[in-house]
Amino acid sequence: MLAVVKVLQSDWLTTGPMVERFERAFADYVGTAEAVAVSNGTAALHAAMFALAVGPGDEVIVPPMTFAATANAVVFQRGTPVFADVDPETLLLAPEQVEARLTERTRAIIAVDYAGQPCDYEALRAIARRHRVALVADASHALGARDAGRLVGGLADLSTFSLHAVKTITTGEGGMITTDDAGLAGRIQRFRNHGFTRDHGQRAAAGAWFYEMRELGYNYRLTDFQCALGLSQLSRLDVWLDRRREIARRYDSAFAAVPGLRPLATRAGVTHARHLYVIRLDRELLGVGRAEVFDALHREGIEAGVHFIPVHLHPFYRERFGTGPGMCPVAEAAYEEILSLPMFPAMTGRDVARVIRAVQAACGLGQRSFQGT
Ligand SMILES: *Cc1c(COP(=O)(O)O)cnc(C)c1O
Repeated sequence: MLAVVKVLQSDWLTTGPMVERFERAFADYVGTAEAVAVSNGTAALHAAMFALAVGPGDEVIVPPMTFAATANAVVFQRGTPVFADVDPETLLLAPEQVEARLTERTRAIIAVDYAGQPCDYEALRAIARRHRVALVADASHALGARDAGRLVGGLADLSTFSLHAVKTITTGEGGMITTDDAGLAGRIQRFRNHGFTRDHGQRAAAGAWFYEMRELGYNYRLTDFQCALGLSQLSRLDVWLDRRREIARRYDSAFAAVPGLRPLATRAGVTHARHLYVIRLDRELLGVGRAEVFDALHREGIEAGVHFIPVHLHPFYRERFGTGPGMCPVAEAAYEEILSLPMFPAMTGRDVARVIRAVQAACGLGQRSFQGT
């Protein structure tokens, strides 16, 4: 709070020194050479597609089990998103499905660390290298997650993060791109500032007024007071991640013995960031399905969610790209069964216990039995 107020009283509200400080701290945290702050996670994805020169005729492979912005970023650049199905146990982009969707026109793969679990980056990097396509991680859910000991952020050519209010750390709205490639980082820095060769802060530092526009960019800047908030949030990230993991362990042990109620699997060697806690509800085994459990929780004042409607089922994609049911059967089947339970670090032990009891009751377990459908 104090840090934000200090910036508000300073000479620089935007394109000032706090942006670089936040970028440096973020890059140091994830262990990359570069980090570029932008106005939101969608802008981060757009910037990644721009930096990789995705354009008309280019295909980019994306999973359907994600927020629409992952695929939309490809469309912003007039590229074609190609949906590859997910693994049935983790709902992460399945490397063999990626392989099956590669064509001469494939330019990049965007992997999504769904729910906070890193994808199989070793397999995805091997595919990307073999076919000479770029690998992008939409790591909006996965800041602080690790795959085989290595932090998300440095596992793909470019990794994008969202700093929206619901994400692990926030600047209200905000985004970040991390990479070890200085050339890509430079392209993204210009892209976020209209395509200008120098921004306001750089001109002031150089004592020069000149800049020119070589490419078409946008105004995707993040302000200095947001970056001050980001720095303070980043310093608390590890504590919050520990709390998220603790809550997940309590959910895991409560639901382990319930037939028909299945938390998503965690891959071996993964350290999960636990952005979402997703359960799958098997209507045949439980006698109730996602709709009834969602409604029962809602009646108790507990807000669950569904992440996500598979992107290829949205009317925009059906109409523009001819996508539809049957294209990604694993994601489509999962969509009918998934429910995201409340998960945030400020939840108390009592909050968690209340959610567990409400889910058990909705499934006909515990003291209160469920009274039919
Ligand atoms: C939140 C999110 C985004 C978009 O981030 P914004 O900051 O809201 O623009 C993109 N991809 C995924 C997977 C997300 O969860």
